[in-house]
Amino acid sequence: MSQNGIETIVIVGAGQAGASAILELRANKYEGKIILVGDETHLPYERPPLSKDVILKPEETKIEILSEEKLAELGVEHIRGNGVVKIHSDAKTVELKNGEIVAFDKLLLATGGAARRLPNFDALGKHVYTLRNLEDSQALVPVLQAGRRIVLIGGGVIGLELASSARSKDCIVTVIEMGPMVMGRSSPRVLSEFLLAQQRLAGVDVRLSTSIADCKLDGEEVVITLEGGEELRADAVVYGIGIVPNAQLAVDAGLDVDFAIKVNDNCQTSHPDIYAAGDVATQLRDCGNHRRVETWENANLQAGIFARHVMDVEHPTPNPAWFWTDQLNINYQFVGDMAASEWMVRGEIKPELAAESSFVLFGVTDGVIVGGITVNAAKEMRHLKKLISKNAAFEADKYLDLSQDLRKLVK
Ligand SMILES: Cc1cc2nc3c(=O)[nH]c(=O)nc-3n(C[C@H](O)[C@H](O)[C@H](O)COP(=O)(O)OP(=O)(O)OC[C@H]3O[C@@H](n4cnc5c(N)ncnc54)[C@H](O)[C@@H]3O)c2cc1C
Repeated sequence: MSQNGIETIVIVGAGQAGASAILELRANKYEGKIILVGDETHLPYERPPLSKDVILKPEETKIEILSEEKLAELGVEHIRGNGVVKIHSDAKTVELKNGEIVAFDKLLLATGGAARRLPNFDALGKHVYTLRNLEDSQALVPVLQAGRRIVLIGGGVIGLELASSARSKDCIVTVIEMGPMVMGRSSPRVLSEFLLAQQRLAGVDVRLSTSIADCKLDGEEVVITLEGGEELRADAVVYGIGIVPNAQLAVDAGLDVDFAIKVNDNCQTSHPDIYAAGDVATQLRDCGNHRRVETWENANLQAGIFARHVMDVEHPTPNPAWFWTDQLNINYQFVGDMAASEWMVRGEIKPELAAESSFVLFGVTDGVIVGGITVNAAKEMRHLKKLISKNAAFEADKYLDLSQDLRKLVK
C-alpha cells in the first residue's frame, strides 16, 4: 500500500531519534512499512541514564524505549547488529554490513554521534574509558568502586554527571577542564559557579583552565602530567570531551555535510528523500545559521518534524529548547537561550545548603525573558517555557518576588 507515494521508510540508527520517529510516524497515521536498522544488538534505548542510574542502580534501571512486543505491534522490522555501510542515493537503497540491500522511499539518518577521541589516552590500552553506549556504561560499574582514584577529563555535562556518580560510590574524583568554567558551553556563569561549588563541596577536585601535557602507564596506574608539571595518578581515566556526529554515510553519499548533516527546517538533507535527525543533524534555525543540538528533547522533536513532513502534516510551533541534568541529587533544567545578556535570580542561591537550594534563574536580553533555569524547582519549568514562548517582558518586582506565584503571573 502506498501513502503519499511512500511504501517503505528506512530508519538508520535505533537510538532516541530513530525510536521516536517510529512512534511519530504511526501517530501521524503512516501505515506503510518501517524498517529500523541498528548497528547495536540492543532494542532502542535512552542514553541519559547511562551516566547516572545504569551505573548507580544497574539492576533496577530500565532504559528500553521500545520493547520487542511494541515494535511488533507497531509493525516494525528491526534489523539489529547489522548497520548501514553505504547509501546508494540514486537507487534509493542502503547497503548493510552483511551485504544485504534494502530499498527505501524515504530514509531517516538517526545515527547519533561517537565520543570524540583522545588518541594519546586510547594508546594506553587499558584503564581509559569513554561513555556513549550501554556497554561503555556497564564497563564503568566495576571501575567506579570506593577508594579508587578516578580522573575525569572534561567538565561538561557528562563529566559532571560521572563525577556525581563516582562520588556516590565513594571514589576519589578529579575533574580536569581546559576552559575557565564547568559546563561552559551550556550554562551561564552564575549557574556554572553553583555547579562548581556543588562538585567541590562533594569532595571533587575540579581543576579549571587546566591542560594535559602527557599521559603514560606506570604499572596499573595512569600518570597524567599537567601543563604546569604536576603529576596526577589514577586507577582509571574517563574522558568526555564531546562527540563527533556519525555523518560518514552522508559524506560518502554526497549529501551536504558540515561536520554534521545539514538539514532544513523539515529535517530534509540536500537529497529530498533523505532526512536526518538528532545528534547527527545540524538544522537551519530562524537566525539563518545551522545549529546542532545534542539533547534528548531535540532528538524527539526532529523525529517528529521528519514524520510530519513525510505525512504532509503541518508542524506545531516548537517550544523553546529544553534539557536537564541530574548531579549530586540536584535536578537542573534549562530552557531557551543560555547566552542571554543578564541572569536574574528568583529565590536564594545557597551553595552550602544544596538540599535546600531551590531557585529559578531568568535569562533576559533587551528586557525580554529569553532563557530560564530551574534548580530543584522542576515544577516552575512549564511557566518559564510559557514566558519565553510569549516573549514576556521581564518585570523584576513581579518575577523575583517569592510571594507571587509564577503560575498566576504567567497568565
Ligand atoms: C551518557 C549520556 C548522558 C546523557 N544525558 C542527557 C541528559 O541528561 N539530558 C539530555 O537532554 N540529553 C542527554 N544526553 C544526550 C541524548 O541522549 C542524545 O542527545 C540523544 O540520545 C541523541 O539521540 P540520537 O538518536 O541522535 O542518537 P543516539 O541515541 O546515540 O542513537 C544513534 C544510534 O545510531 C546507531 N548507528 C550509528 N551509525 C549507524 C549505522 N551506520 N547503521 C546503523 N546504526 C547506526 C548508534 O549505534 C546508535 O544506536 C546524554 C547522552 C549520553 C551519551
